[in-house]
Amino acid sequence: MTKKILVISTGGTIVSQIGEGGLAPTGGAGGIVDVLRGRFPEHDISLDELMSLDSSNVGPRHWRDIARAVWRALPNHDGVIITHGTDTMAYTASALAFMLRGLRKGVVLTGSQIPSFDPLSDAASNLCVAASALLCGITGVTIAFGRKVINGARAVKVSSTDMDAFDSPNAPPIASVTASGVKVTDWAMPKLARCGVLTVLEDELCGDVFLLKLTPGTKLEMLAALPDMGYRGVVIEAFGAGGAPDAGCCMKRGLYALAGAHIPVVVRSQCLTGGVDLSMYETGRTMREMGAISARDMTSEAAVTKLMWALGRTSDVSEIRKIFETNLAGEISI
Ligand code: ASP
Repeated sequence: MTKKILVISTGGTIVSQIGEGGLAPTGGAGGIVDVLRGRFPEHDISLDELMSLDSSNVGPRHWRDIARAVWRALPNHDGVIITHGTDTMAYTASALAFMLRGLRKGVVLTGSQIPSFDPLSDAASNLCVAASALLCGITGVTIAFGRKVINGARAVKVSSTDMDAFDSPNAPPIASVTASGVKVTDWAMPKLARCGVLTVLEDELCGDVFLLKLTPGTKLEMLAALPDMGYRGVVIEAFGAGGAPDAGCCMKRGLYALAGAHIPVVVRSQCLTGGVDLSMYETGRTMREMGAISARDMTSEAAVTKLMWALGRTSDVSEIRKIFETNLAGEISI
C-alpha cells in the first residue's frame, strides 16, 4: 500500500556545499527527495524545506518550529523524516520526544557525516534506513543513522568522524539493519510512544537552562551568579555515580543561592553509561540534601531538554521533580 511520507529539511552536512568559509548548508534539499523517490518508487514522498541551518545554530525556537511542522503534517502523512545536522541532532530529537508524545506514527531524524555531493556520502543509506524504519511501523521520535534506529530521547552523538555516529548508551537500539532488512529488536519505546491516551503537542519550552560539567577545581561559587544571568534551570554533570566537591562549602552556598531563586537543579553523571545515585557517596549527599533532582541514567541532551520542557509548563520545583520521576519518552530507566 502506498504510504505518504513527508521529508522536513532543516540543513546540516547532508545539504552542505563547500563555500569560502567552509562547509555550509547552502544546497537545496531536492536531492534528498530524489534519492528516496528513486529507492521507494511505490510511496508518495514530498518535501518541506523548513530551514537551512548548520545544527550549531539550531535551538529551542527552531525545535518548536520543527515540532509544529510535524504536528501539521501528521494528519495527512503516514510518517515524517526530518533531515538535520548531526552535531545537535540528539538535542533536537530529545526535545521533540518531549514535545510530541503518544505518537501513533513515526518521526525519524537523520542526516549524514559526509555531504550528499561526495561519492562516499552516507546520506543515501541513512535516508533509506529512516524511510524503512517508518515503513516497518516504528512509531515515536527516533534517530536512524549508520545501520541502526535508536530512541530519540536516548541518543548521543558519539563520533565526529565515524559513519556510525550515534548511540543510545543506556538503552538497546530499537532496530538494526541486517541482511534480511530492518530488524526491530525492541518494541518497548514504540509501545511507550503510543501508550499516551492522546497524541499531544506540548511545545512550550524555556531555553534558559545552564549545563555545568564539573571538573576538579571548578569554582562552584559561579552557581550563585546564574539567577542574575537569567537562568531558570541548571543541570550539573557530576563525577561518576553523582559525586561533587563538597569541601569548603562552595557547593552548598551555590545550591543555596539557586534554591533561594527557586531554580531547579538536576544532576546527571558525566559517564557515558550508567547513571547517578545521589545517596551512594557522601560527596553526592550535599546535592541531594539541598534538593537536587536525580536524572538517573538520562543523557545530557535528554536532561537539558526535559528541563527546558518542564520549565515551559511550570516553575514549581516540586512539579518539576515529579516530571523527572516520570518516564515520558523512554528517556529514563525507572
Ligand atoms: N556541522 C554539521 C551540522 O551539525 C555537521 C553534520 O551535519 O554532520 O549541521
